Amino acid sequence: MSRNADYMKRLRKARVERKQCIRCGKPLSQETLIRGVKQCESCLEYQHRRKLGQISSKVNTTYFYNRQHKKDEIKRKKLGDFMIKNKITIKDLAKNSNLSQRTIQRILYTEGNYTKKTKDAINNYLGEEIL
Ligand SMILES: [Zn+2]
Repeated sequence: MSRNADYMKRLRKARVERKQCIRCGKPLSQETLIRGVKQCESCLEYQHRRKLGQISSKVNTTYFYNRQHKKDEIKRKKLGDFMIKNKITIKDLAKNSNLSQRTIQRILYTEGNYTKKTKDAINNYLGEEIL
């Protein structure tokens, strides 16, 4: 471990002991402490926004990554990954498969069922058996 990393590790540990945000050193609120979170609200918020920004800049859309999809939904995840990899937005997919954006969003973000017609329309456009 580099000296700097070691320093940061000790600093974080000291901040946890002093009930401070491990990132900025601001005293943590009672609510944050109860939840067992080691960062203040503004640091969490900042990191959250940064994460969304990084991902959405890759797919060039705000539609897709504003929400998280269910991790156990393998096919949905596969579709999401495929869209990112190929830079396909929800809008693109909806337009090219003749479906509404709402339908695509429902598939990506919810556990709701979709019809075979929808499935075929998406797979046809993508040129692969994704769903
Ligand atoms: Zn902070």
